[in-house]
Amino acid sequence: MVMLPRLVVCDQHGTQGIGLVCRHILSAKEPVGFFWSDDSDQARPDAWCNDCEEKLVKEEFTEAWFEQAGFQAICALCWDAAKERAETTDSEE
Ligand SMILES: [Zn+2]
Ligand SMILES: [Zn+2]
Repeated sequence: MVMLPRLVVCDQHGTQGIGLVCRHILSAKEPVGFFWSDDSDQARPDAWCNDCEEKLVKEEFTEAWFEQAGFQAICALCWDAAKERAETTDSEE
């Protein structure tokens, strides 16, 4: 089955492909870590924070995990910006 990439019209970036990020990354004011899946049908892969990653390692992928992550689709360029924000730390290079 082939899924065509979805598009979104972003206020800042216009029409773009989408990527999913967990709600913690979206709402975070501090870097929360950034992990992503290897493959994606979309412009960007699904991405999630440290907390979600820890749960994923412990419990593996479940419906409940997916729900608690509360993935939201954002435009590809916003995804890139979210990645930079989430990965930036003061203590590491
Ligand atoms: Zn998360
Ligand atoms: Zn955007």
